[in-house]
Amino acid sequence: MASAAKPVIAGNWKMYNGPAATRDFFPAFLGAYAPRNDRTIIFFPPALSVTAAVEATRDRDDIGLGVQNVYWEPKGAFTGEISAPMAREAGAGYVLIGHSERRHVFGESDQDVARKVKAVFDAGLTPVVCVGELLEERKAGRVDEVNLRQLNAVLGAISTEQAASMLLAYEPVWAIGTGVVATPEDAAAAHGTLRRRLAQHLGAPAADAVPILYGGSVKPDNAAALLAAGDVDGLLVGGASLDPAGFARIAAAPWSA
Ligand code: PEP
Repeated sequence: MASAAKPVIAGNWKMYNGPAATRDFFPAFLGAYAPRNDRTIIFFPPALSVTAAVEATRDRDDIGLGVQNVYWEPKGAFTGEISAPMAREAGAGYVLIGHSERRHVFGESDQDVARKVKAVFDAGLTPVVCVGELLEERKAGRVDEVNLRQLNAVLGAISTEQAASMLLAYEPVWAIGTGVVATPEDAAAAHGTLRRRLAQHLGAPAADAVPILYGGSVKPDNAAALLAAGDVDGLLVGGASLDPAGFARIAAAPWSA
């Protein structure tokens, strides 16, 4: 059984959909997905497409927007980076932090992730903090150790009030972009571990209110089963969020509290 009041369904477009493709995507998605107040929908387009996404969703306050990464400094001589205040100015309300591609392709450490989460809060935005183990770590029985290490680094850098208002995403690295999805039981076990750690830190009621999303090869056909798993409060969808009709089906997946 899920614990948050309503699920969060988020689409991470990765490095797909520039401004023109973004302008094409939204009429198709919004036509297939009618507004509803029993869930939250968030898109994470590439930063260059946020302005197009803001314009395309202007009449839909049920749709939230975010960016996929920021640097931890607010401004300065950091060529190629964007900051959290800039993302906010562009219309983002959320920031993905610690996505596995940031950690494993771009070498972000737990400490980098923690600094970025703090910077996101300092800018008045909400982080979606991603954690997850590699396949070899799972095979070595280190799932909880890895996920707790990644979560603890973040908890050590922010206040308890901030921790209570973040979103978490469990994204096992072996499931991202592979077509190999975690079983609902595996997802429930990992989410349960994260929830218990949050409860130690925040107390049970506050920990229960932190949405913990599952991500990794979510598709229209497996979304409902994953949403029904214990402690799963939403979905973070990569590849399947690029298809407007398919993502509309995921966004509307059945869910009960
Ligand atoms: C992601 O990018 O966060 C993700 C979960 O990707 P996919 O759904 O393609 O596995």
